[in-house]
Amino acid sequence: MPELPEVETVRRCLLKSVLDNKIVEITSNYPEMVEGDFDDFKNNLIGHKIINIDRKGKYLIFKLDNINLISHLRMEGKFFYQQKNEPVNKHIHMIIRFENDYELRYQDTRKFGRMVLKTNDALFTTPPLSNLGADANDETIDVNDFINKLQKRKNTIKEALLNQEIISGLGNIYVDEVLALSHISPLRKANSIDLEEAKLILSSAKEILDKAIIYKGTTIRTYTSSLGVKGEFQEFLLVHTKTICPYCNAPISKSKIGGRTSYYCTKCQR
Ligand SMILES: [Zn+2]
Repeated sequence: MPELPEVETVRRCLLKSVLDNKIVEITSNYPEMVEGDFDDFKNNLIGHKIINIDRKGKYLIFKLDNINLISHLRMEGKFFYQQKNEPVNKHIHMIIRFENDYELRYQDTRKFGRMVLKTNDALFTTPPLSNLGADANDETIDVNDFINKLQKRKNTIKEALLNQEIISGLGNIYVDEVLALSHISPLRKANSIDLEEAKLILSSAKEILDKAIIYKGTTIRTYTSSLGVKGEFQEFLLVHTKTICPYCNAPISKSKIGGRTSYYCTKCQR
């Protein structure tokens, strides 16, 4: 699943192609991926231009004049920017055509991705974005606010960091990495994390996510960026998918925590 660095990479790639071209046609063979009425969706977009692309957590926000198209790629969503005469495969579920005869194509083999339109007024005051915590690499996060949220959780720190309402943008890979760099066990109860550990988690998250963005994300299993970009952060992973701890050379433990396969060192991470 694309996490913050991968979605940010997609955003930066799309910024180079889709801006300031009038949308002339929208087609979909799976309109159910759009929340709300599909004809309304089309009518709100056709005739307008994408003037910017933002991101919050793992959500892309295509900004038009007074409307925003929010897209979550979920497991396998990918965007392509192609000329209209290029072949369309059966997993392309949305085609947004511009007046320059190029198309923004959304592919999703598993159909888990979702799109929804929001006005500027409703963008951050209604779900899904109203429920999101600050980006995990946002240096303005208040550590006291963060620890207050952790105190209310009865599950593990691994599960708490996957919860996008606490901080957003981290998924399974980067939570493993953040906890390894912080030397904190993913099995710890979230409400046992103290102030110093909370500061460490936030600084580790910023360090890892910022570096992963520079390397255009992690290319692992099914994730590849759609736009000809191959992430290289897998070269820097500490524990996720690894067998030997980079700090102490002990074998890495691999187990399910909250249903997610987790990698950690039982010696270094306490
Ligand atoms: Zn170790």
